[in-house]
Amino acid sequence: ESTPGDPSTERRSRQVHGALWSKVQPTPVSAPRLVAWSPEVARMLGLDEATLTSPEGVQVLAGNALWPGMVPYAAAYGGHQFGNWAGQLGDGRAIVLGELLAPDGQRYELQLKGAGPTPYSRRADGRAVLRSSIREFLCSEAMHHLGVPTTRALSLVTTGDKVIRDMFYDGNPEAEPGAIVCRVSPTFLRFGNFELLTSRGEVALLKQLADYTLKHFFPELGAPSKETYAAFYREVARRTAKLIAHWQAVGFVHGVMNTDNMSILGLTIDYGPYGWVDDFNPGWTPNTTDAATRRYRFGNQPPIGLWNVERLGAALMPLFDEEEALVEAGLLEYQRTFEEEASQRFAGKLGLSALRDEADVALVNEGFAWLAAEETDMTRFFRGLSQVVTLPEAPTSLPPVVRETFYGEVPEAHVARGVEWLASWWRRTRKEDVPPAELARRMDAVNPKYVLRNWLAQEAIDAAHAGDDSKVHTLLDVMRRPFEEQPGRELYASKRPDWARSKPGCSAL
Ligand code: AMP
Ligand code: MG
Ligand code: MG
Repeated sequence: ESTPGDPSTERRSRQVHGALWSKVQPTPVSAPRLVAWSPEVARMLGLDEATLTSPEGVQVLAGNALWPGMVPYAAAYGGHQFGNWAGQLGDGRAIVLGELLAPDGQRYELQLKGAGPTPYSRRADGRAVLRSSIREFLCSEAMHHLGVPTTRALSLVTTGDKVIRDMFYDGNPEAEPGAIVCRVSPTFLRFGNFELLTSRGEVALLKQLADYTLKHFFPELGAPSKETYAAFYREVARRTAKLIAHWQAVGFVHGVMNTDNMSILGLTIDYGPYGWVDDFNPGWTPNTTDAATRRYRFGNQPPIGLWNVERLGAALMPLFDEEEALVEAGLLEYQRTFEEEASQRFAGKLGLSALRDEADVALVNEGFAWLAAEETDMTRFFRGLSQVVTLPEAPTSLPPVVRETFYGEVPEAHVARGVEWLASWWRRTRKEDVPPAELARRMDAVNPKYVLRNWLAQEAIDAAHAGDDSKVHTLLDVMRRPFEEQPGRELYASKRPDWARSKPGCSAL
């Protein structure tokens, strides 16, 4: 591509004007070791096990060597962080090695996260620690297997080097093991790539970036024109709405929905302080730095998605004709899609083919209100419903499979309200034109048994720090089949234990 780049390979942090990316070499690490890799991603890329796990392969995955044809670069982007324009951000610790033409005909970018400083590192070190790398590696793959659009993770290597973080972790005030994840995506472009250019008035570059994006990732929209740019915006709005509806349906909280972390393809990107709701709490955020306003809490993700789509609209305005009307159309697209998609997903979780009328909507809303009123495990609650739907009569007492999803004692009035709700839901399922056993099967296909609960990831991290990678491998394997019963693996579907409650990153704020 003739996309303008900053040809200097200097790693020095700087403002990069008039360019979309900078050439930069990964900084070598001392003793790379392959901890884990995803067989599905390797297969998708046409990389065989021998190549990947060879000493040379591991050197590439650690940023110590390049395969022929790789021209590493870091991308320039900006973004709104916690509601405020933050200026130039960019790939501060991510370096794209190059594109790989996969057997499926699709091009994938291979990106090392934690491979050393780039012009966009600002005052940080360009490195990643093992704990956050394990979290990104496992969650990318877990999300994919849940069917949620996401960037992928090919590999996880430890670097042999220590990384200094100014936080206490397990009593260790400073050094933690460093690691690198190789992420994979057709593109890592974010809303922020577009925003940066508009903020600087670099309209020719903005157009070039939009044309590149359209040509490679939205070819179905046709050749670039004012209409295509508008259609592109609406499509990104639509995909973003679908994505966030899906997050809500599986209980995923991203934690840092800044516009630099919003994929232009509508993928989940940048697994930082994300978390899974254990109890169904719309107010929960896994992000301890967001504790004051809880901007990115579970229940706030849908409106934040809209706010972010509006920021993208503002960034694309120089390409539009009737700016306000087109941005308005994108926002409407988002709202319409989100409502449709969320209603469809939650209907499906309840075994209903659709929410048909006001009564159905009221039923779902009462279910949400009841779930949120007392600490109740979201994943186990929905999974358990397939055992309630097959009961021969509407329940008159709380079935054990539901009762065990509470985190503590609940008042009798709450139990009674639950029984009433379950009974009306059960009666509603009888109006579906398929037998209960088939409803149960359909529900199990959309209500996961296994999600990457925070405490599970934490246990794998603690073990890895103690030199035992086996829990990372087991979790990766469990999360490969989240909708299937996996005998002997009940532990991985169990409720959050008490110790995980107050742990940073796992606490209900
Ligand atoms: P995040 O909040 O993780 O999405 O990161 C926001 C910005 O900070 C991005 O531009 C990152 O590349 C950058 N960043 C985060 N951590 C580091 C690091 N350790 N070194 C360099 N840049 C970083
Ligand atoms: Mg980011
Ligand atoms: Mg990040």
